[in-house]
Amino acid sequence: MTKIIKFGGSSLANSAQYQKVIDIIEADASRQVIVVSAPGKRFDDDIKVTDLLIKYANQTIQNQDSSEVLAAIIARYQEIATAFSVPDDQFQIIPTTLTELPDQKYPNNEYLMAAFKAHGEKLNAELMAMVLNQLGINSRFVDPGEAGITVSDNPNSATVLPETYQNLGHFGYGDEKLIFPGFFGITKAGNIATFARGGSDITGSIVARGLNIPMYENFTDVSAIYAANPKIVKNPMPIKKMTYREMRELSYAGFSVFNDEAIIPAIEGQITINVRNTNEPEAPGTLIVPEGAFQSEHEITGVASSGHFSALYLHRYLLNKEVGFTFKLLQILYKYDISYEHMPSGIDDLTIIFEDSQLTDEKMRAVGKEIHESLHPDRLDWIRDYSIIMVVGEGMVNQTNALSKSIDPLATDGIKVNMINQGASQISIMLGTRKADANRAVLDIYNQFFNSQED
Ligand code: ASP
Repeated sequence: MTKIIKFGGSSLANSAQYQKVIDIIEADASRQVIVVSAPGKRFDDDIKVTDLLIKYANQTIQNQDSSEVLAAIIARYQEIATAFSVPDDQFQIIPTTLTELPDQKYPNNEYLMAAFKAHGEKLNAELMAMVLNQLGINSRFVDPGEAGITVSDNPNSATVLPETYQNLGHFGYGDEKLIFPGFFGITKAGNIATFARGGSDITGSIVARGLNIPMYENFTDVSAIYAANPKIVKNPMPIKKMTYREMRELSYAGFSVFNDEAIIPAIEGQITINVRNTNEPEAPGTLIVPEGAFQSEHEITGVASSGHFSALYLHRYLLNKEVGFTFKLLQILYKYDISYEHMPSGIDDLTIIFEDSQLTDEKMRAVGKEIHESLHPDRLDWIRDYSIIMVVGEGMVNQTNALSKSIDPLATDGIKVNMINQGASQISIMLGTRKADANRAVLDIYNQFFNSQED
């Protein structure tokens, strides 16, 4: 059974990491399709090649001298090429392409930015093919244009178009290793457009679905997805297996190991995702599977928190009797291009929860003013100090006490819960707390369900 394997930036940050990747490729002959990110950070304060390319693009746009950043980018690839004795005449394509990037034609600066960024992955995939061939492993670089990975016209936050799957369905190959660059596709007009940051995972899912490959190994720098953030809970339990929708719910609240958007093509293709660690390849990692293939072992699978939210609280007597209140409210949000996350409501009250990044002071003032004018609330408060805690698990569907077990330890610990949302999704409970209480809440809930001895 063929497998697709994807390596993140830290797995390809230098020649030492490249060697680990090569060992992983060689350890299992079924690992035929390989997706690579751009070289990432070698140490904490290091700069990813993608970020160097963004700087290079900005300097180009502003007509500034970019020789320093260009040299820094070339050096990252050169170190790897030298370590694996890639012949100079082969390697030369990389510095040449990078040097000539500013001379290419782009429809506008956003496309210029996208093309510069995408070259982090593109050149790394070319380099990987050179290195593998040099080592006697028959390999081929696959350009997303050649494979037909077709994306929307949003240069820096593209989404995949359906024809991609037909194109990939016709993509012919033999038994050589195929090296795909992650992170970007080609628009119908023939321009490079990238996914949002961290988007190489998306390429892996798309290619797996398009080539009909049921197993997608995603190599990163953690040995598993854990039941809670290891920065909050000491030695949390690794999750052996979870469902797509559990992953969706947990990544919503900050589990960032596997890219959120990358789940969708995997669901469509019913592909098993195996998150694994390049630095500890023997560890089994975490499997993300369809619901049908899942039997939960624990009451909950994980607990996460995210502080990227704000809320708007509205009070008005007899709100429940008033026809059109929510309609008018949503129209105001629509006018200001603000999407909302949740809207729990009571008899006279309503809270709307937003993703924080959308709310500028100016927008809040304007929205508040319009709400006052057209809805006349008795009270309107913006709550910036808002965190969401997500308690997630397929196992909760058949339980009666998951809610009380989640809330009880918070009450004991004096943590005020100002919103509870359980209903639409039976596999999660969402709690709102103050930001300052969020980590403690996660720890308390984790201890409650996993009976940990942590303090
Ligand atoms: N290199 C890109 C980034 O840094 C994409 C990725 O690594 O997935 O965002």
